Amino acid sequence: MADPKPVLVVGAGPVGLVAAAELIRHGVPVTVLEEGTELSGEMRGSTFHAPTLDMLAEYGAAERMVEQGFVAPLMQYRRRDHGVIATFDFGVLADVTRHPFRLQCEQFKLTRILHDILKDKPGFSIRFGAKVAAVADEGSHVVATLADGTRIEGSHVIGCDGAHSAVRKSAGLSFEGFTWPERFLVLSTPFDFRSIIPDLADVSYYADPEEWFFLLRVPGGEPGGLWRAMFPTSAELSDEEILSPEFARARFARIKAGRDDYPTRHRTLYRVHQRVAETFRKGRILLAGDAAHINNPLGGMGLNGGVHDAVNLGAKLARVWHGDAEDVLDLYDRQRRGVTVEHVQRQTITNKQNLEAKEPEAQAAFRDRMAEAASDPAKAHAYLLQVSMINSLRRAAEID
Ligand SMILES: Cc1cc2nc3c(=O)[nH]c(=O)nc-3n(C[C@H](O)[C@H](O)[C@H](O)COP(=O)(O)OP(=O)(O)OC[C@H]3O[C@@H](n4cnc5c(N)ncnc54)[C@H](O)[C@@H]3O)c2cc1C
Repeated sequence: MADPKPVLVVGAGPVGLVAAAELIRHGVPVTVLEEGTELSGEMRGSTFHAPTLDMLAEYGAAERMVEQGFVAPLMQYRRRDHGVIATFDFGVLADVTRHPFRLQCEQFKLTRILHDILKDKPGFSIRFGAKVAAVADEGSHVVATLADGTRIEGSHVIGCDGAHSAVRKSAGLSFEGFTWPERFLVLSTPFDFRSIIPDLADVSYYADPEEWFFLLRVPGGEPGGLWRAMFPTSAELSDEEILSPEFARARFARIKAGRDDYPTRHRTLYRVHQRVAETFRKGRILLAGDAAHINNPLGGMGLNGGVHDAVNLGAKLARVWHGDAEDVLDLYDRQRRGVTVEHVQRQTITNKQNLEAKEPEAQAAFRDRMAEAASDPAKAHAYLLQVSMINSLRRAAEID
């Protein structure tokens, strides 16, 4: 018999709202509890991979994302000194996806679009200013206690409350892994790098033994868009030094010799981790997105992996909620935690190591591998299945 209590989703970030959309699509009532007084407007993640867009299309969100983002059909690996190593065309994936490209679009646009789609749907409710302090599994239901002491009951709770997840901590689940010593600096500028690097793709990763970086073009609310440049920074430097205009100029000077005077719109410095929760499921308490796993941004897999969690979990939880399945929630943990470790963690660490390789042999091997893959359509297809996370979804579907 159907449990009349709603599913509680903690956090109205992209993962929480996708989980809500998937549950609502399957006729399950959802209460979203969000600490903020409104949806976040932070830029943060800006990469959406092909299968993620295929999933978002089910809620009517992908088309609106495409309208508000930049379609990036190409991805490049480059070297500062030797130009292009390899250019990959996502168009070769047209046989397996309706969105054969990377979409560059700020993640806050997704949360706004999803909220707009969900807000009037029967069964959906959202409470802003609702900071969850603790959750408890009472056997037949869950209770979320807010910071002000209010108690809210649900059938299950999904912690989509980000890397510092109160839900994960309240459930006593460890977040094993490590923190990279260097922090990452993101600088954004309206200067169009294509005017000085004519063959530059909208998504370009620069391998460099001294200091790798990447360049991504996003809408950014500017007529011609914004370029986001991300650089690693030394652990020995203070925040003040790294966030100074002089430091930004010195980093920008690495992009193209002789130029360092680009107008800067944003400077963000953040710590980067590789961590995975010990389980994504403990009884009626579930984790998804950054609450369950975090990784470096090379390859744009964190946010996308979180959306893949939310869709996988939403569909399974709906079956349990309706009483159509005994318990498929352990399968969610096996599938999503499995590919998070096997694919997302491994791939993002490899991506970083490829770009920062210091030994000439390792640099040459990476260059040769990428150049060969890009020049052979079958190899390019295989490589792009991996980087666009289609392989990780196929692997998850095989796990039983
Ligand atoms: C600078 C930067 C660049 C990034 N670039 C990329 C990229 O290019 N591609 C990519 O895939 N990923 C990227 N990421 C990672 C991406 O932003 C995250 O993976 C993504 O935001 C995870 O979404 P989420 O919904 O799980 O968590 P979040 O977006 O962190 O959302 C969590 C929500 O929970 C709320 N919340 C927190 N605690 C509580 C509580 N106790 N009670 C109630 N509500 C609570 C928060 O207010 C928030 O709204 C980047 C991250 C950063 C910082």
